[in-house]
Amino acid sequence: MVDKTVIKPRKSKKIDPLIIDCGLLSDIEWTGTVSATALIKAGETSQKIIEYTIGHLNEFYVPVNNRARTRCIDGRHDPELDETNLGSQVPGGAPGAALAYRLGVDEDDLTRGTFLSDAETMVGNYIRLGFAPGGHRDENSHGQLAVGCGAIDGMDKILATMTQKGLVDDHKRVVKLLLGPKFKRDDYLRVMGAAVVVNDRAQDYFHGREEIIDILEKRDKKSVATLKGEHKECIVVVNLINGTTLSSNRLADAFDGIQAFGYDLWRSIQMADKLLPRPDQVWDRERFVMARVMSTVATLMALTDGSQRLVLRTAAA
Ligand SMILES: [Zn+2]
Repeated sequence: MVDKTVIKPRKSKKIDPLIIDCGLLSDIEWTGTVSATALIKAGETSQKIIEYTIGHLNEFYVPVNNRARTRCIDGRHDPELDETNLGSQVPGGAPGAALAYRLGVDEDDLTRGTFLSDAETMVGNYIRLGFAPGGHRDENSHGQLAVGCGAIDGMDKILATMTQKGLVDDHKRVVKLLLGPKFKRDDYLRVMGAAVVVNDRAQDYFHGREEIIDILEKRDKKSVATLKGEHKECIVVVNLINGTTLSSNRLADAFDGIQAFGYDLWRSIQMADKLLPRPDQVWDRERFVMARVMSTVATLMALTDGSQRLVLRTAAA
């Protein structure tokens, strides 16, 4: 006899991805050194290759594995990347979320606390919630007082850039573009205010931050990658399609080594839901996502000169 009580899993609706080319990140010069203009000038790539890559981006998105270590947005080569087992990409990996929590959610006195203790707590949260934390070094960072992750090493610069005179308006423009109808001016201004306060005591707050990668490694050796090669990011892709991520090694292999910064914005929204699950925490969730997107844009401002192409990957309406 057939057991009719078996519940069949509902077929998930297929999502048609839409690639939206938003043009250059900025028309003004940002403070970072990674430059698509310079790479084109040096003959490392061309406008044509960049256009072609954007046209084929969807072919490099794969289902994410929640158990696979969280990756950074960094587009450099990861020699140990398991192509069948990719974690999502967020700036600075798991420790990177700590700054967003501090700026957007934490009720503690902003004049106290350190990034290191915030990041340790965040790594613990990842483990508790069933996500594999992750972070990275690079091949130049061994024996240095830096980890080799721009999103962590440059965190003081990122915060300073976010609050820098002459850049705030451009920062807000990009954050608005990424969040669309989810952009709330009040949240933006509140997180910006917190950034000003923390930036004022950046030396104390970020003291010893490089230790976080050692701590992460002690908790799980496999959670830390060592990236190789130079930064050659010519494209920034912000991905809004749940459960998908960029196969960054494969992309660089296919297009003569040019790379993309990949940010899985959907993961930040999912993290907010997991970290702050109660119905009364709706504002905290919004502010966490706002702070994560604001710090991501500031990271791009501090790492690049703004000449990369900004691409949104979202579901077709
Ligand atoms: Zn990084």
